[in-house]
Amino acid sequence: YYDHKTLLYLDGKFVKASDASTDLYSQTLHYGYGVFEGIRAYKTENGTSIFKAKEHYERLKNSAELINIPFNYNVDELVQVTYDLLEKNNLSDAYVRPLVFCDPNMSLTQPNNVSLMICAWEWGAYLGDQQLRLSVASYCRPHPRSVKIEAKVCGHYVNSILATTEAKRNGFDEALVLDSDGYLAEGPGANFFFEKDGVLYTPQLGNILPGITRATVLELGEKLGLEIKQGLFRPEELKTADSAFYCGTAAEVIGIESVDETKFPLKWSNSLGKKLQDEYSKLVRTSELKLSTVN
Ligand code: PMP
Repeated sequence: YYDHKTLLYLDGKFVKASDASTDLYSQTLHYGYGVFEGIRAYKTENGTSIFKAKEHYERLKNSAELINIPFNYNVDELVQVTYDLLEKNNLSDAYVRPLVFCDPNMSLTQPNNVSLMICAWEWGAYLGDQQLRLSVASYCRPHPRSVKIEAKVCGHYVNSILATTEAKRNGFDEALVLDSDGYLAEGPGANFFFEKDGVLYTPQLGNILPGITRATVLELGEKLGLEIKQGLFRPEELKTADSAFYCGTAAEVIGIESVDETKFPLKWSNSLGKKLQDEYSKLVRTSELKLSTVN
């Protein structure tokens, strides 16, 4: 992720990643009480473009506020800082990881002060470029009455790590996680769609992370004139589905070959997911106006 030259952004300064340090008494380290983002930048004809940068920092702010972590940063400034960070590290196609973490505090109370770090590195497609073989996890997603499930909170990812580890131990590529009522929810780090008889289906908001890629796919689908239904779907529905895919910032759009013993019959190249995958990769490489060039 970094070498001796890498710079990261920490509380208003660019510092060497190898010199940066944090307090071991941080509430985030002990309790998972922090929020983060995952953003991608792409090389375009007009230079580096951070895809949906503002949306990601707005979600970071929203995540923090939902769990009572003070967030006193300006979203536009954070976008600019991220462009500067990429430039300083000579990165163009890159993954960006902002993290808001808390000061030392061993009590279970809201923190007074937080820190913000942003780092970036080159990262290929997170789930690879081959169609995935999934397994339904024995773990369910955290219940929305236990946590703020729509916030991207550090501690929620214990669930994701458990589910992924279980799937890989059982010989699968990745997990598919249900909500606590047994409906399809999402992947450990991506949102889920499936196709049946020319219609796309995706779990509704409420038990999942409101993915920025999911929202983009819904928009692209609308532009393509596709019918996409959001709702509560049972995993049994997948037995008669034609194809499926995951989407997320790190994973982008990636086809799913099977879920446990159910293999999807439609060839990926003929699926609606493939169409959306092509549109998505075109879109992210279309340059957006850089903030520094806006008056
Ligand atoms: N669900 C979970 C649990 C995730 O971690 C992610 C990745 N942030 C997603 C969905 C996809 O979200 P996005 O498209 O905003 O990256």
